[in-house]
Amino acid sequence: MFLTNQDVIELTAWRRKLHAMPEVSGEEVATAAEVQGFLADTKPDRIVTGLGGTGVAVVYDSGLAGPTVLFRAELDALPIEEVGTPDYRSKIPGKGHMCGHDGHMTMLAALGRQFGREKPKHGRVILMFQPAEETGAGAAAVIADEKFQGLIPDYSFSLHNMPGLPLGRVWLKQGIVNCASRGLKVVLTGRTAHASMPETGISPVPAVAALMPALTALSEGSIETGDMVLATVTHASVGEPAFGIAPGRAEVWVTLRTMTDGQMEALMARAETLVREIAAADGLEYAMDYHDIFGQCENDAQATEMLRAAMEAEGVPHDAGETMRGSEDFGRFATVSKSAMFFLGAGENMPNLHNPNYDFPDDLIPIGTKIFMRVARDILG
Ligand SMILES: [Zn+2]
Ligand SMILES: [Zn+2]
Repeated sequence: MFLTNQDVIELTAWRRKLHAMPEVSGEEVATAAEVQGFLADTKPDRIVTGLGGTGVAVVYDSGLAGPTVLFRAELDALPIEEVGTPDYRSKIPGKGHMCGHDGHMTMLAALGRQFGREKPKHGRVILMFQPAEETGAGAAAVIADEKFQGLIPDYSFSLHNMPGLPLGRVWLKQGIVNCASRGLKVVLTGRTAHASMPETGISPVPAVAALMPALTALSEGSIETGDMVLATVTHASVGEPAFGIAPGRAEVWVTLRTMTDGQMEALMARAETLVREIAAADGLEYAMDYHDIFGQCENDAQATEMLRAAMEAEGVPHDAGETMRGSEDFGRFATVSKSAMFFLGAGENMPNLHNPNYDFPDDLIPIGTKIFMRVARDILG
C-alpha cells in the first residue's frame, strides 16, 4: 500500500499549513497540537505528548514481539523573517520554517496514514516529532524524559532535505555525517574608569583584541582528512556606547566545531586555556559557559545498510556524499539505538537552508516517505 493521490494533496496542504504557523525552538506548542490532531485521525495505538518539552511520539504497535523502529522529525522553525511570497507564507512576524522541518513532519505524517491503515506485522513504529533541534537541546531532552523509557527504539532513522543536491538524489554514508559544535561565551570583567583617566580602571580592550585572532587561529585540518577543527568568532562587545567611560566588561562569543566528540574535548581545553592566559595577563576576571551544544552525528553501519537497501529497492539514486560541517542533534539517538540519517536533495537552484526565502519542495514528500516506509516494512513487515 502506498500514498494515494488524495493523500498527497492533503499532505501537501498540511505542509503548507505548518509552514504558515512557525514556532521557534522550545515554543512549539501549537505545532505539537496540530501534529497530535492530524495523526489522531490515523488511529494510532498510543500518542505520548510533552516529551522533552513539546515533543510528540505517535506509536503504531502490532501487539506482537519485534523491534521498535523510530523515525524522527523536528517541530521547530527559526527566528527568521520569511521574505518569500508563497500564498502560505509565514503568518508569524520574524519567524519562518527556513530549514524545511515542515516537510520533515509531513513525511512522518504520511507514514502515519499508511501505518494507520496497515499495522506493522510485528514490533512497532514510533513517529517522533522532537522539539528544539535548532538549538541542539531537543533530542537530548526527549531521551532524558522518563516518558521516553517506554519508547526506546532498536533502530532510529531521520533525513534532512538538502538544497544544492538534485531533487530526489540522496547522500548516505556510514560514519560521521554531521559535526559536533558548541558556542563558547566568554565574559571578561575588569573595572570601569573615567575616559580621561583610563589608567585607574582595568580595560578588557587589549584582551579582546588578542583573544579574537588567537581563538580563530585554533582552526586547522579539514573534513577530507577527518581532523577539521574550526573556531569562528560570532560576536563581540566591549563596554557601553559612551565616550565618557573606559570599559570594564567585554564579551566574546566563539563557535567551536569538530568532527568527533573527542576532538571537541581537545578543542574546548585549548580555547579555555587561551581565555585563562589572556585574562590573567591583564588582571581580568573571566567566566565561560557553553550554549547550543551538539554532539557528533554518526551513522551506524547496519542501520546505514538498511537505508541503502531500501533506496535500492525503491530506485532512489544515492551516493556517499560528504560529511556536513553543520550540526544535527539526531546524533543523540545513537546513544540509545542503531541510528542513521541521510540527506535528500531539494534541488540545485534552491536557496540554502536558513536563507530567508527557503521553502521545502513539496515534491520531496512522497520520495522521503517511500524510503522510510520501505525500511520500516523491511524490518517489521
Ligand atoms: Zn536548521
Ligand atoms: Zn534542519
